[in-house]
Amino acid sequence: MALGNPSGTVASTAYPNNYLMVKPQYALSHNNSKLTCNWVSWYLSSAWIGSAPRQDDFRGDNTLPSSWVWVGGTDYSGSGFDRGHMCPSADRTGSITDNSATFLMTNMVPQAPNNNRITWANLENYCRKLVDAGNELYIISGPWGQGGTGSAGYKTTISTKNITVPAYVWKIIVVLPVGSNDVSRITTSTRVIAVWMPNTQTISSQPWGYYRTTVDYIESKTGYDFLSNVPSSIQSVIESKIDNGPTN
Ligand code: MN
Ligand code: MN
Repeated sequence: MALGNPSGTVASTAYPNNYLMVKPQYALSHNNSKLTCNWVSWYLSSAWIGSAPRQDDFRGDNTLPSSWVWVGGTDYSGSGFDRGHMCPSADRTGSITDNSATFLMTNMVPQAPNNNRITWANLENYCRKLVDAGNELYIISGPWGQGGTGSAGYKTTISTKNITVPAYVWKIIVVLPVGSNDVSRITTSTRVIAVWMPNTQTISSQPWGYYRTTVDYIESKTGYDFLSNVPSSIQSVIESKIDNGPTN
């Protein structure tokens, strides 16, 4: 969360739909009505990438308040939607503990398989390619709206717990060459990639780059303020541009 707290989330049960959860591997705002995150924020550098195998231990998050409804590891089963990671498994392979943390269901949204496995996954892979090329990344992503089309058709919620199926998923990536004092190194020419992708099966007819948009657009849809720790004169420039850099 070095670049900011987009929704002013706090770790208070007085705000169950904007409930802050900070983990060593990522931070998120949980929504107790939607039963998904509002957003997940993480940092990606080569230090987080290692050889830990994918744990696949999808499970409820036992750091949620005990009186709330928890989404369990099998609650998406048969829904036609994938358990779509926000902070990807492959971004946290430095240790088994780190990788396992990405399988908490508070890090998931119901994601159309062709979104999760193709278009979104290609962007995740591209992020790690940027790291391999000598960059460090600040990433934030989340769901928006309600109603998506998975492999079993259009749904607004899944499971008897009424987990909200988002209409879109979005992601913002700030790309910096490896260095120190990261926030102060962000300038009007820093590369910022923002995408807004429909939660549908037809998404994969286009490459991820087709879905690029501005941070301003995502701010206008979500009501959040991203990159709020960056001086506003710089924010206004980098948030209004659509990235046109390479996509693979
Ligand atoms: Mn995924
Ligand atoms: Mn902003």
